[in-house]
Amino acid sequence: MEAIILLGGPGAGKGTLAEVLKKQTDYLHVSTGDMLRAATQAGTSVGTEAKSYMDSGQLVPDAVILRIIEERISEENSNSHFMFDGFPRTIEQAEGLDRFFKKQGGAINHVFNLVVDREALLARLTGRRVCRSCGAVYHMANKPPKKSGICDIDGGELYQRADDSEATILNRLEVYKKQTAPLIAFYQQKGLLREINAGGSPAETQTLVLNVLNA
Ligand code: AMP
Repeated sequence: MEAIILLGGPGAGKGTLAEVLKKQTDYLHVSTGDMLRAATQAGTSVGTEAKSYMDSGQLVPDAVILRIIEERISEENSNSHFMFDGFPRTIEQAEGLDRFFKKQGGAINHVFNLVVDREALLARLTGRRVCRSCGAVYHMANKPPKKSGICDIDGGELYQRADDSEATILNRLEVYKKQTAPLIAFYQQKGLLREINAGGSPAETQTLVLNVLNA
Protein backbone atom coordinates (compact mmCIF):
# COMPACT_ATOMS: atom_id res chain seq x y z
CA MET A 1 0.00 0.00 0.00
CA GLU A 2 1.15 3.46 -0.86
CA ALA A 3 -0.38 6.86 -0.22
CA ILE A 4 -0.15 10.55 -0.93
CA ILE A 5 -1.78 13.13 1.33
CA LEU A 6 -3.36 16.40 0.21
CA LEU A 7 -2.93 18.88 3.03
CA GLY A 8 -4.14 22.48 3.09
CA GLY A 9 -6.74 24.80 4.60
CA PRO A 10 -10.40 24.74 3.64
CA GLY A 11 -10.66 26.07 0.08
CA ALA A 12 -7.03 25.30 -0.80
CA GLY A 13 -8.20 23.15 -3.73
CA LYS A 14 -7.71 19.63 -2.38
CA GLY A 15 -10.95 18.29 -3.86
CA THR A 16 -10.44 19.95 -7.24
CA LEU A 17 -6.90 18.59 -7.47
CA ALA A 18 -8.03 15.12 -6.41
CA GLU A 19 -10.67 15.01 -9.18
CA VAL A 20 -7.92 15.43 -11.78
CA LEU A 21 -5.29 13.23 -10.17
CA LYS A 22 -7.65 10.29 -9.85
CA LYS A 23 -8.08 10.34 -13.65
CA GLN A 24 -4.37 10.78 -14.44
CA THR A 25 -2.84 8.42 -11.86
CA ASP A 26 -3.76 5.13 -10.19
CA TYR A 27 -4.34 6.75 -6.79
CA LEU A 28 -7.79 6.04 -5.32
CA HIS A 29 -9.46 9.20 -4.05
CA VAL A 30 -10.36 8.94 -0.35
CA SER A 31 -12.07 12.08 0.95
CA THR A 32 -13.26 11.87 4.56
CA GLY A 33 -15.44 14.96 3.93
CA ASP A 34 -17.21 13.22 1.01
CA MET A 35 -17.57 10.00 3.03
CA LEU A 36 -19.08 11.90 5.96
CA ARG A 37 -21.47 13.86 3.72
CA ALA A 38 -22.61 10.58 2.13
CA ALA A 39 -23.12 9.06 5.60
CA THR A 40 -25.12 12.10 6.68
CA GLN A 41 -27.35 11.89 3.61
CA ALA A 42 -27.86 8.16 4.11
CA GLY A 43 -28.71 8.77 7.79
CA THR A 44 -26.26 6.16 9.16
CA SER A 45 -25.14 6.32 12.80
CA VAL A 46 -21.77 7.79 11.76
CA GLY A 47 -23.61 10.40 9.67
CA THR A 48 -25.90 11.37 12.51
CA GLU A 49 -22.98 11.70 14.91
CA ALA A 50 -20.91 13.72 12.41
CA LYS A 51 -23.57 16.17 11.26
CA SER A 52 -23.52 18.69 14.12
CA TYR A 53 -19.71 18.90 14.05
CA MET A 54 -19.69 19.43 10.29
CA ASP A 55 -22.43 22.05 10.24
CA SER A 56 -20.56 24.16 12.78
CA GLY A 57 -17.15 23.67 11.16
CA GLN A 58 -15.71 21.59 14.02
CA LEU A 59 -13.71 18.42 13.47
CA VAL A 60 -15.47 15.09 13.80
CA PRO A 61 -13.84 13.06 16.65
CA ASP A 62 -10.61 11.26 15.70
CA ALA A 63 -11.95 7.82 16.69
CA VAL A 64 -14.84 8.12 14.20
CA ILE A 65 -12.50 9.24 11.40
CA LEU A 66 -9.93 6.51 12.04
CA ARG A 67 -12.68 3.90 12.02
CA ILE A 68 -14.07 4.97 8.62
CA ILE A 69 -10.56 5.22 7.17
CA GLU A 70 -9.61 1.73 8.37
CA GLU A 71 -12.83 0.33 6.92
CA ARG A 72 -12.22 2.08 3.59
CA ILE A 73 -8.59 0.95 3.32
CA SER A 74 -9.53 -2.62 4.22
CA GLU A 75 -11.80 -2.78 1.16
CA GLU A 76 -8.74 -2.58 -1.13
CA ASN A 77 -5.85 -4.96 -1.74
CA SER A 78 -2.26 -4.56 -0.59
CA ASN A 79 -1.11 -3.06 -3.93
CA SER A 80 -3.49 -0.12 -3.73
CA HIS A 81 -2.47 3.53 -3.95
CA PHE A 82 -4.50 5.97 -1.86
CA MET A 83 -4.87 9.71 -2.22
CA PHE A 84 -6.10 11.10 1.10
CA ASP A 85 -8.03 14.37 0.76
CA GLY A 86 -8.91 16.09 4.03
CA PHE A 87 -7.31 13.33 6.09
CA PRO A 88 -5.40 13.35 8.40
CA ARG A 89 -6.52 16.60 10.04
CA THR A 90 -4.94 16.15 13.50
CA ILE A 91 -1.67 14.74 14.83
CA GLU A 92 -3.72 11.98 16.47
CA GLN A 93 -5.13 10.96 13.06
CA ALA A 94 -1.66 11.06 11.47
CA GLU A 95 -0.34 8.78 14.21
CA GLY A 96 -3.33 6.48 13.72
CA LEU A 97 -2.54 6.25 10.00
CA ASP A 98 1.13 5.50 10.77
CA ARG A 99 0.10 2.69 13.13
CA PHE A 100 -2.28 1.25 10.55
CA PHE A 101 0.26 1.41 7.72
CA LYS A 102 2.92 -0.16 9.95
CA LYS A 103 0.60 -3.10 10.52
CA GLN A 104 -0.31 -3.37 6.80
CA GLY A 105 3.15 -2.65 5.35
CA GLY A 106 1.99 0.64 3.84
CA ALA A 107 4.01 3.78 3.12
CA ILE A 108 3.35 7.48 2.56
CA ASN A 109 5.17 8.77 -0.55
CA HIS A 110 4.44 12.50 -0.47
CA VAL A 111 2.46 15.00 1.59
CA PHE A 112 1.46 17.93 -0.65
CA ASN A 113 0.89 21.10 1.33
CA LEU A 114 -1.34 23.33 -0.82
CA VAL A 115 -0.46 26.88 0.19
CA VAL A 116 -3.01 29.66 -0.47
CA ASP A 117 -3.32 32.99 1.36
CA ARG A 118 -6.29 33.68 3.62
CA GLU A 119 -8.01 36.26 1.37
CA ALA A 120 -8.03 33.83 -1.56
CA LEU A 121 -9.32 31.00 0.64
CA LEU A 122 -12.25 33.14 1.79
CA ALA A 123 -13.12 34.19 -1.78
CA ARG A 124 -12.97 30.58 -2.99
CA LEU A 125 -15.21 29.22 -0.24
CA THR A 126 -17.93 31.87 -0.32
CA GLY A 127 -18.31 31.42 -4.12
CA ARG A 128 -18.21 27.61 -4.10
CA ARG A 129 -21.21 25.64 -5.37
CA VAL A 130 -21.44 21.84 -5.55
CA CYS A 131 -23.58 19.51 -7.67
CA ARG A 132 -26.01 17.62 -5.46
CA SER A 133 -25.90 14.48 -7.60
CA CYS A 134 -22.28 14.11 -8.85
CA GLY A 135 -20.32 16.33 -6.44
CA ALA A 136 -18.67 18.43 -9.20
CA VAL A 137 -17.38 21.73 -7.83
CA TYR A 138 -18.06 25.17 -9.37
CA HIS A 139 -17.28 28.75 -8.42
CA MET A 140 -19.68 31.65 -9.06
CA ALA A 141 -16.86 33.87 -10.36
CA ASN A 142 -13.93 31.61 -11.33
CA LYS A 143 -15.74 28.59 -12.74
CA PRO A 144 -19.45 29.32 -13.27
CA PRO A 145 -21.69 26.62 -14.77
CA LYS A 146 -23.03 27.26 -18.29
CA LYS A 147 -26.57 27.52 -16.92
CA SER A 148 -27.03 29.19 -13.54
CA GLY A 149 -27.63 26.72 -10.71
CA ILE A 150 -27.33 23.63 -12.96
CA CYS A 151 -24.41 21.17 -13.24
CA ASP A 152 -22.79 21.09 -16.73
CA ILE A 153 -22.03 17.38 -16.37
CA ASP A 154 -25.31 15.79 -15.35
CA GLY A 155 -27.85 18.61 -14.99
CA GLY A 156 -27.95 18.18 -11.19
CA GLU A 157 -28.90 21.03 -8.87
CA LEU A 158 -26.01 23.16 -7.57
CA TYR A 159 -26.08 24.01 -3.87
CA GLN A 160 -23.97 25.83 -1.32
CA ARG A 161 -22.55 23.57 1.39
CA ALA A 162 -24.03 24.37 4.81
CA ASP A 163 -20.48 24.85 6.13
CA ASP A 164 -19.61 27.40 3.39
CA SER A 165 -21.49 30.21 5.16
CA GLU A 166 -19.20 33.06 6.20
CA ALA A 167 -19.41 32.45 9.98
CA THR A 168 -18.66 28.75 9.61
CA ILE A 169 -15.81 29.44 7.18
CA LEU A 170 -14.07 31.69 9.73
CA ASN A 171 -14.47 28.93 12.30
CA ARG A 172 -13.04 26.31 9.92
CA LEU A 173 -10.00 28.52 9.25
CA GLU A 174 -9.40 28.77 13.02
CA VAL A 175 -9.83 25.01 13.46
CA TYR A 176 -7.35 24.45 10.62
CA LYS A 177 -4.76 26.75 12.21
CA LYS A 178 -5.02 25.13 15.65
CA GLN A 179 -5.57 21.46 14.86
CA THR A 180 -4.38 20.74 11.32
CA ALA A 181 -1.48 23.15 10.64
CA PRO A 182 0.76 21.28 13.17
CA LEU A 183 0.83 18.44 10.60
CA ILE A 184 3.10 20.59 8.41
CA ALA A 185 5.97 20.31 10.91
CA PHE A 186 5.04 16.68 11.65
CA TYR A 187 5.53 15.62 8.01
CA GLN A 188 8.44 17.99 7.42
CA GLN A 189 10.35 16.13 10.13
CA LYS A 190 9.69 12.89 8.31
CA GLY A 191 11.02 14.37 5.05
CA LEU A 192 7.65 13.89 3.31
CA LEU A 193 6.42 17.48 2.96
CA ARG A 194 6.20 19.02 -0.56
CA GLU A 195 5.18 22.70 -0.53
CA ILE A 196 2.93 23.58 -3.48
CA ASN A 197 1.93 27.15 -4.37
CA ALA A 198 -1.78 26.57 -4.93
CA GLY A 199 -2.79 30.22 -5.31
CA GLY A 200 -2.95 30.02 -9.12
CA SER A 201 -5.35 28.20 -11.42
CA PRO A 202 -6.25 24.53 -10.86
CA ALA A 203 -4.16 23.66 -13.96
CA GLU A 204 -1.08 25.35 -12.46
CA THR A 205 -1.48 23.46 -9.19
CA GLN A 206 -1.93 20.16 -11.04
CA THR A 207 1.26 20.71 -13.03
CA LEU A 208 3.30 21.40 -9.88
CA VAL A 209 1.98 18.24 -8.20
CA LEU A 210 2.35 16.02 -11.28
CA ASN A 211 5.98 17.20 -11.66
CA VAL A 212 6.72 15.81 -8.19
CA LEU A 213 4.78 12.57 -8.78
CA ASN A 214 6.52 11.94 -12.10
CA ALA A 215 10.03 12.89 -10.93
P1 AMP B 1 -14.10 18.78 3.89
O1 AMP B 1 -15.06 18.36 2.83
O2 AMP B 1 -12.80 18.05 3.82
O3 AMP B 1 -13.93 20.28 3.94
O4 AMP B 1 -14.76 18.35 5.30
C1 AMP B 1 -15.99 18.91 5.73
C2 AMP B 1 -16.16 18.69 7.23
O5 AMP B 1 -16.14 17.29 7.51
C3 AMP B 1 -15.06 19.27 8.10
O6 AMP B 1 -15.26 20.65 8.40
C4 AMP B 1 -15.17 18.39 9.34
O7 AMP B 1 -16.29 18.75 10.13
C5 AMP B 1 -15.46 17.03 8.73
N1 AMP B 1 -14.21 16.28 8.41
C6 AMP B 1 -13.76 15.88 7.19
N2 AMP B 1 -12.60 15.21 7.27
C7 AMP B 1 -12.29 15.18 8.60
C8 AMP B 1 -11.20 14.66 9.34
N3 AMP B 1 -10.17 14.01 8.74
N4 AMP B 1 -11.22 14.82 10.69
C9 AMP B 1 -12.23 15.45 11.32
N5 AMP B 1 -13.28 15.99 10.68
C10 AMP B 1 -13.33 15.86 9.33
